Amino acid sequence: MTPFDYARAADAADAVRRGAAPGAAYLGGGTNLVDLMRETVERPAVLVDVTGLSRGIDALPDGGLRIGAAARNTAVAEHRLVRTHYPVLARAILSGASAQIRTMATVGGNLLQRPRCPCFYDTAGSRCNRRLPGQGCDAIDGFTRGHAILGASDACVAVHPSDMAVALAALDATVLLDGAAGSRSLPLTALHRLPGDRPDIETVLHPGELITAVELPPPLPGGRSAYRKVRDRASFAFALVSVAAVLTVEAGQVREVRLALGGVAPRPWRAWRAEQALRGQPATAAAFRAAADAELADAKALKDNGFKIELARRMIVAALAELAGEAP
Ligand SMILES: Cc1cc2nc3c(=O)[nH]c(=O)nc-3n(C[C@H](O)[C@H](O)[C@H](O)COP(=O)(O)OP(=O)(O)OC[C@H]3O[C@@H](n4cnc5c(N)ncnc54)[C@H](O)[C@@H]3O)c2cc1C
Repeated sequence: MTPFDYARAADAADAVRRGAAPGAAYLGGGTNLVDLMRETVERPAVLVDVTGLSRGIDALPDGGLRIGAAARNTAVAEHRLVRTHYPVLARAILSGASAQIRTMATVGGNLLQRPRCPCFYDTAGSRCNRRLPGQGCDAIDGFTRGHAILGASDACVAVHPSDMAVALAALDATVLLDGAAGSRSLPLTALHRLPGDRPDIETVLHPGELITAVELPPPLPGGRSAYRKVRDRASFAFALVSVAAVLTVEAGQVREVRLALGGVAPRPWRAWRAEQALRGQPATAAAFRAAADAELADAKALKDNGFKIELARRMIVAALAELAGEAP
């Protein structure tokens, strides 16, 4: 591991000041960043520890919820208000990593964890445009089973690995940021970039910007939610495909639906097209299938991952059918 300095931020302003130094990186639970440092994929000159900042999980006056960026994944999944009002978030978190990792990992770090493409980690043997822009990509012509079917580019086909982010995308979460130029907020769905020809730029964050919290709007009245994840092992594995769904049905018709997919794209994939196709439609398996088809119309298979298209289709239909009480 390359030598580095360590500083513990006293508050958000102190973190932002320290985070502006050249080569600085924020340290959450370290469960991704420290691995990347060991593999020499990342070589920060200074780690700014932000785990002492807000861990609060607080009800908002409008009925929503604010979750501090330093809140541990386990604390979020176990929180009474999360379990009661946003069960899709609790289930998504609990489907990820292991109990030990979830106990260390923070909300901010989870959202900004790096992709798991083996070429990205293989500094000695593989070319990776995400690690070194313009170098080329050995993943595209390699074993592509885990890679993206939506939103990829000729430069990068890696998928975004976070389960939490998929649920937050479906919940219309907002990300709160502090930076040298002040505070701002973004919809979670606008945080991560598609790779295009610069896969190394993964988010729209300015250099040194700090995630301070995530806010959830009030739960949809009468909304039911589900998180489904298909993976190679029952635990401790990233998603091949995951689906977060929130649905309200009135008089047999879809009143509101929010749908996001994981494991299929370089960012948490909000299924806007499927949602648009479903609003006001009968809450039937046929309508769910049509919506899934609309979402996946542009999906492109690589050599080994064509199964993800059919898997995503079936998972969308199954999740929505479960929530609507319909047979898939
Ligand atoms: C074996 C294994 C299996 C896993 N399986 C899954 C899985 O199935 N699903 C899943 O979702 N995840 C999985 N993970 C990933 C795990 O969830 C992440 O490692 C973890 O969420 C990262 O959080 P952290 O706080 O440790 O982040 P860190 O490692 O501390 O940081 C990650 C990144 O976020 C940045 N950062 C941290 N906090 C902030 C902040 N407040 N503002 C701005 N930047 C910040 C850091 O600088 C770094 O770039 C797995 C990890 C391992 C090791």
